[in-house]
Amino acid sequence: MTSRRDFLRTSAGVGVGAAVGLGSARPLRGAPGVLRSRVAPVAIASGNGTEAVDTAFRMVSEGGDTLDAVVEGVNIVERDPNDTSVGFGGLPNLDGVVQLDSSVMHGPSRGAGAVACLEGIKTPSRVAVDVMRYTDHVLLVGRGAQRFAVSMGHAVENLLTDGTRRRWIEWRARMSDTDDYLTPEESGQEAPPFRNGGDPGMDMLDSHDGVRPQGTINCNVVNRDGDLSGVTTTSGLAWKIPGRVGDSPIVGAGLYVDNDVGACGSTGRGEAVIKTCGSHSVIELMRAGMSPTDACLEALRRVVTFTTEARLRNAAGRPNFNVNYYAVNKSGEYGGAAIWSGARFAVCSGGESRREDSAYLFERGS
Ligand code: ASP
Repeated sequence: MTSRRDFLRTSAGVGVGAAVGLGSARPLRGAPGVLRSRVAPVAIASGNGTEAVDTAFRMVSEGGDTLDAVVEGVNIVERDPNDTSVGFGGLPNLDGVVQLDSSVMHGPSRGAGAVACLEGIKTPSRVAVDVMRYTDHVLLVGRGAQRFAVSMGHAVENLLTDGTRRRWIEWRARMSDTDDYLTPEESGQEAPPFRNGGDPGMDMLDSHDGVRPQGTINCNVVNRDGDLSGVTTTSGLAWKIPGRVGDSPIVGAGLYVDNDVGACGSTGRGEAVIKTCGSHSVIELMRAGMSPTDACLEALRRVVTFTTEARLRNAAGRPNFNVNYYAVNKSGEYGGAAIWSGARFAVCSGGESRREDSAYLFERGS
């Protein structure tokens, strides 16, 4: 259940959004010179998106397009070699190849574009935009996606860094005692500062399985006209089976935008989000009148209900993984929620970017 403290905190967040908004985005009739009532712009993102929300907020405040704004925002993280869950420097799949997933939705034009299993392109979100703008399709995958990206002028580059290659080599060596790969200990080298390719002391809920770090960036924005856009981009699950596609490039799962209602995206265990049509569910719950935070929490309850596998449940029968949703509605109310306590999201409103605590269903340790 949501704790009372969190309920108050998230209600306060929503209150701020609503208070600074100047009403609904419906046009005012009969007011000369005023074509539309205004919304206070808001950009919201996953916790790794403070720079992204800053950029997206500034761009829409200067009159930029909402999709250009969020894509420019996440490009910072896609190009950052130190974020090992997105774009360049993302952790690779089982074969040591970085495969990227991304989707975009542009509210005003109702456009959508996505790529999955895309190799060699640092900014898959830009390729997703090109799919939306320059093809009659929504989703391109694998080699076809890369060929399309090259045709649109994107450069093919090596996305592995020395650090991510080292982690993958170490993970490969620890996979089996009966193959010919030597672990750092066996080969007499200094052991790297990670355990089986993951960070030391990583919490089960900050990872896919206590070893593989979780990560992705989702960023959504509403401008002063109440127009919305969103983007989700990721290198997905580290060491995944080649060809595995997560929720991020699936329209309705890792991202959904309806310009009449709001925008939502997700991070965390993609398989759980796909099975519950996560982001689309959040939008439909907001359409039915729920606040962004309550809609995110309700969609997370569906994830819990759909988690029937014993291997995915803890001793108390709760999911042993995390899922996060980030949502903003057309009037500028926003909220984030996760299955487990301790998650944070990035938000920029009123020109100030910050991280806020996500609402949650369960206290860690329960
Ligand atoms: N949702 C992403 C995926 O499943 C990964 C993550 O956010 O950790 O591919």
